[in-house]
Amino acid sequence: MGTGSNENESRKERWFFALATFDEEPVDGDNRQYVTLDSLAEDGLYLLRELPLRYLGRYVDELPPQLLLLRCLRADFSRHTKEPEGANFLWLRVLVSAQSDGDGVPAEVVQYADEVEVPTVWINRFEPVGRGFVDHWEFLTEIRYTQPSTPSLVAGVLDHAMRDADFVSVGVFDVGQGSCSAILDEACSPRVYYDLGWPANFNGKSRPAHKPGILDFGRAAPVIISHWDMDHWAFAIEGMKYDRAELAMRPVWKDEALHRVWIAPNPRKTGHPVGPFLQSLLWALEYEELMPGINALQLLPDDLTYIDLTWGRLEVCEPPAGVEPNRNNTGLALWVYGPENQMMLLTGDADFNCIAGLSAKRRRRLVGMVVPHHGARVTATDVPKPAFHEDGYAVVSVGGPNVYGHPKQDAINSYLAKRWNVRYTKRRRPCQYCEDGRPHGNIRMLFDENPPFGTCNGFGYDSICLHPVSLEFEEIEELE
Ligand SMILES: [Zn+2]
Ligand SMILES: [Zn+2]
Ligand SMILES: [Zn+2]
Repeated sequence: MGTGSNENESRKERWFFALATFDEEPVDGDNRQYVTLDSLAEDGLYLLRELPLRYLGRYVDELPPQLLLLRCLRADFSRHTKEPEGANFLWLRVLVSAQSDGDGVPAEVVQYADEVEVPTVWINRFEPVGRGFVDHWEFLTEIRYTQPSTPSLVAGVLDHAMRDADFVSVGVFDVGQGSCSAILDEACSPRVYYDLGWPANFNGKSRPAHKPGILDFGRAAPVIISHWDMDHWAFAIEGMKYDRAELAMRPVWKDEALHRVWIAPNPRKTGHPVGPFLQSLLWALEYEELMPGINALQLLPDDLTYIDLTWGRLEVCEPPAGVEPNRNNTGLALWVYGPENQMMLLTGDADFNCIAGLSAKRRRRLVGMVVPHHGARVTATDVPKPAFHEDGYAVVSVGGPNVYGHPKQDAINSYLAKRWNVRYTKRRRPCQYCEDGRPHGNIRMLFDENPPFGTCNGFGYDSICLHPVSLEFEEIEELE
């Protein structure tokens, strides 16, 4: 304590710029809605303005914690602030403190690393932001050093990643309430990831007890991000600890997550502003140059409709007329082709009526899919049928318990009505291949062909250990 520096003192309160976004549906059993406040410390904004823009990804790492992700009840929020009309977001200034001033609103600190406890702070003031703030933020976050990618570069990266892959299958990792899939080769090694999700601490009970080694396969396999909701990319976060003295957090990224190509929609495409947390990842990826001139962040041009690959198709989702575009329904769906004109579909969080390839005349037969949005409600009439009734698997990437009540029974019923076999990543079972028999709910979807023996830990549709393994060559030779 004393003169000048207050470095070792805890802050009593701190002003933040916050991007408030509103739940579309009630969550929790008792129909409560929440507001998420993705926040940057006001003093942090002034620090960032002093830094060279091109290197923000590097310098942000060295600053004291400036970010804070909060969640409060929408009812509490709207008692203090007028909600915007015709938009589901709002920028505002909030004064955050460890204590209530009497009229404060309690808010949960949202964390995406391994934390399960949910610290609480108080929001004691809500104020409008000035135009100057929004201008500054837009200046800092403008995509300046990452040009939109080109379809030929994206196709080149994705085709190269699958080169020589035999016996392709689709793995769906058990990440609890989030999404992470991968296109696997004959050794069950991910060649291309589709989302790298992990749940927030408010869904922390849905996480598997042992964090899966999703990125431990020794390949820099590219990542397709279906859309930018955090439950689809938060596995890239190594740490996000809440610093009580600073009333803020600093995300620490997994190096192995950043050192690869990320193919994703432009997060600004739907007009929704990019909040401080996503922006800090974008800065980190923008700073990551994989080869001279090849950046880790490959954002697709806004006018793209699809990219054909040697092994499938990347399709840009688009909501039908009358449905408001948002992050979920404008993401990237992925078609994966298999032998004998079979194919599988990975939907991200987009409803079936936003995937044009489903209504087009199809030459291939749909034999498996990862269903939209963790089993949320879908347009039942647009649920496709499996080509082979006995073997069509619909996988739900969902963790239990979760605050959204996913999966929804009426969605599941619509899959059953179309005669899909429905499987859930939350159905964990002790793994006979993991050294300690740990339970996990990883699922591998196979095309209808005979699998090679000996190369993967476990076979079949329902359960597979996707932990990296050493190949047992003797076994393979025996079977040849
Ligand atoms: Zn989403
Ligand atoms: Zn999601
Ligand atoms: Zn296992």
